[in-house]
Amino acid sequence: MCEGHYVIRDGKYGIFAGCSHYPVCKSTLKIPELVYEFIRKYGVNIYQWQKQCWKCQQETPVYSYYLYYELSELDPIFSVLHGIGVGDISSIDRLLSLNVPTVKMKYSKTLNEHYMANVCLHCGAIQGHNYVVTDPHEIINSLCIIMI
Ligand SMILES: [Zn+2]
Ligand SMILES: [Zn+2]
Repeated sequence: MCEGHYVIRDGKYGIFAGCSHYPVCKSTLKIPELVYEFIRKYGVNIYQWQKQCWKCQQETPVYSYYLYYELSELDPIFSVLHGIGVGDISSIDRLLSLNVPTVKMKYSKTLNEHYMANVCLHCGAIQGHNYVVTDPHEIINSLCIIMI
């Protein structure tokens, strides 16, 4: 692409990202490609906070990301990604599990698939799949940034 930036457009085949210099520049990206570009360029914020384990009742750290939160500052359309967190984007999950000992690959018999999840630091119990948080700032204890 040229010196322009990608903007979200609604085309014949649904939404896509097109260069801001269209029609001079016809560069386009599919939405998943745009998201990946964004992560490669800016990294992704990983949020960590404390949760009481449902099993042993002790406090354990849990980690997740709220990609929609950063992306929706690029374009409000990304707020539709609301609710996407640990277990949903495999490349981020893999990095997270390499950096955080309590984020582990788990197997679900019901779903018949592997997925990444937070486990309790003390007893190893799985701490749920998704965390619904409206504003990540509500839960920030500390913030680390992983660059892909
Ligand atoms: Zn361009
Ligand atoms: Zn526990």
